[in-house]
Amino acid sequence: MKTVLILVCLILPLSASTALAGFFESLANPESKEWKIITGATQVLSSTQEIDYPTERNIGESLALEGLQRFGNPVANEQLQKYVNLVGSAVAANSTRATIPYQFAVLDSQVQNAFAVPGGVIFVSRALVDILESEAELAAVLAHEIGHVSAKHALKSTRRAQFFQGVGTITAANLKGDTGKQFASAINDMQGVLFDKGLDKEMEFEADLAAMEAAYRTGYDPSAMIRVLEKLQKLEATSREKKGSWFSTHPPLDERIARLQTQLRHYPDFAAQASVKERFAKYGRVK
Ligand SMILES: [Zn+2]
Repeated sequence: MKTVLILVCLILPLSASTALAGFFESLANPESKEWKIITGATQVLSSTQEIDYPTERNIGESLALEGLQRFGNPVANEQLQKYVNLVGSAVAANSTRATIPYQFAVLDSQVQNAFAVPGGVIFVSRALVDILESEAELAAVLAHEIGHVSAKHALKSTRRAQFFQGVGTITAANLKGDTGKQFASAINDMQGVLFDKGLDKEMEFEADLAAMEAAYRTGYDPSAMIRVLEKLQKLEATSREKKGSWFSTHPPLDERIARLQTQLRHYPDFAAQASVKERFAKYGRVK
């Protein structure tokens, strides 16, 4: 392999340098065929960078409403909701996107699930909170969802992301005619991804690693993420109802656990970090 590379390096300056120079020139020209081919391939990703925060939040709120309809309303327990928001805000402050407002709510759903919509609204089901045993585990779940928001995973998953490019801030007022229709179809696309199909496998691994990092920076034991997944693994073996849960919309748990165990080597002092079981037992129980 090395030999081949060296040969290429030797040959290029002699015979292909002029042709290459032309190629690079075309790449720098937005009107060229080469430019369009290369930028076309990454358009879905780059266009999400163009969405301003108010639009991202509006998209998120539309999806949040749909989420509430599917999974149930927030549990009527103010102390619990405040507590979850406190823990969530702490890990969000140590995430890679700490500058946007996050909101967290426990939904009255019997399916173990958590999801995040663009802009920072994050839901976790009561069934998932029920199986947790420490604040560090709750922090890990919330930080995983914050990881999706930070990396704009839902927005990057829609083929229609291009539509948001150049439309400016989307508000209820300009959601008329064609813009309204396109907006609705982009939302529909993201609904399918968030609630049925699930995000791309690599996005899930990325969120897992981001969760470990944010939890660790906040002072929590990062191995709590692994413990949550192990609990889910046990449940998965016996559960019949998998639809819409972290089992059905996320990659296989053994694969996620294996990757996190490798990552845990980056935190040699993990066991010395906080688990906070007592406070969780006091405030984190769904009554
Ligand atoms: Zn996820």
